[in-house]
Amino acid sequence: MLPAVDGVVESARGTSSGTRWYRRTTRSRIGAVPHRDDPGSQGYDERLMTATLEPRAHGTARPRDLLGRPVHDLRISVTDRCNFRCTYCMPKEVFGRDYAFLPHDQILTFEEIERVARAFVEIGVEKLRITGGEPLVRRNLPALIAMLAALRKADGEALDLTLTTNGSALRALARPLADAGLTRVTVSLDSLDDAVFGAMNGIDFPVARVLDGIYAALEAGLDPVKVNMVVRRGVNEASVLPMAGWARDTGVTLRFIEYMDVGHSNGWRLEEVVPAAELAATVGAAWPIEPIGAAYRGEVAERWRYADGVGEIGIISSVTRPFCGDCTRARISAEGMLYTCLFAVRGHDVRGQVRGDPSDEALRAFLTSIWERRDDRYSELRSRATNDLPKIEMFAMGG
Ligand code: SAM
Ligand code: SF4
Ligand code: SF4
Repeated sequence: MLPAVDGVVESARGTSSGTRWYRRTTRSRIGAVPHRDDPGSQGYDERLMTATLEPRAHGTARPRDLLGRPVHDLRISVTDRCNFRCTYCMPKEVFGRDYAFLPHDQILTFEEIERVARAFVEIGVEKLRITGGEPLVRRNLPALIAMLAALRKADGEALDLTLTTNGSALRALARPLADAGLTRVTVSLDSLDDAVFGAMNGIDFPVARVLDGIYAALEAGLDPVKVNMVVRRGVNEASVLPMAGWARDTGVTLRFIEYMDVGHSNGWRLEEVVPAAELAATVGAAWPIEPIGAAYRGEVAERWRYADGVGEIGIISSVTRPFCGDCTRARISAEGMLYTCLFAVRGHDVRGQVRGDPSDEALRAFLTSIWERRDDRYSELRSRATNDLPKIEMFAMGG
């Protein structure tokens, strides 16, 4: 029997009588306006849009949710732990030495992750992103990458397999990950200024070591290498142009992320969000930019290319220009809970399904049923009321 589907939207509907902060907008598609285990590895180095069922070679069907969105991306969190304490994600005042992270026997094994990923691929997922917490602290991660890299889409093609990391361990792991079949990587870096970055990552981790990780990724042939920068008003706005200039010089794609109201611990305030339009204007004033369309439906970042041909930037505007209408992402937490929205208040127990029933067919049916009941669109409904919902922390769900 399926668990109750209590997505955030249902909850938000019940409580969102408050003022809308932003008019709902619809993103244009591709147009002028940019649219937008082995047991040892469990440790750490720490419908009713009566689904349109497209037949697939695997013999299954690609489910669509209640808003007609197919499942395309799966984000897999391999750990809830992290060596950083970013102020906007895991502030050290909350996530101190005594914080109880998941015990090892509660996180999915590599075999379980591979089984869930395979089931998702069989119902239509084409892109896998490994995340966390900090994914590089999961022991033997290249072994998992090799298992996932062996998966094939219905047409026999390889999947888009990527990873998001804080970069702190990339110098050591970029090559093994690339050799295992990882093709590209996204590294998070919020400033080139040590004082600013050290304060934001919460542990005074030096910029130079993340840069070295990025260079290691480039040397290992990971392509593209993207860099995520969360921009927080009054904290690292002054780092926007230096970061853009560095990215242009280095040949990496920089993506600015609007500071989001994920979880409860970061004390998020709307005033701290630097809107996408302002970010584009700031960069564009230094180096003229022009919009380019999304590479595929559901792409998260609005893309802009430099008019002089030197690369592009992305802006992830989940607060000021919500893109729920094209959201095709599912998330599996390290403990095997399935979340159909980054802002969901409750997940679905995939680990219980996987450990309780060996049938792959039953697993596919379970995942399909959940997806077909999905109607999440939190960012479009965002209001003062939704801010108080009991949301799951991003590091726990998998960002
Ligand atoms: N530890 C890895 C990292 O930092 O890249 C992967 C997990 S982290 C949760 C994934 C992404 O979410 C990072 O790029 C991080 O900057 C971003 N992120 C975390 N909290 C955020 C927030 N409140 N608003 C916007 N982005 C956030
Ligand atoms: Fe760790 Fe990433 Fe969260 Fe920073 S954003 S605390 S690196 S999980
Ligand atoms: Fe997708 Fe939820 Fe974000 Fe909307 S708020 S884009 S539904 S994850």
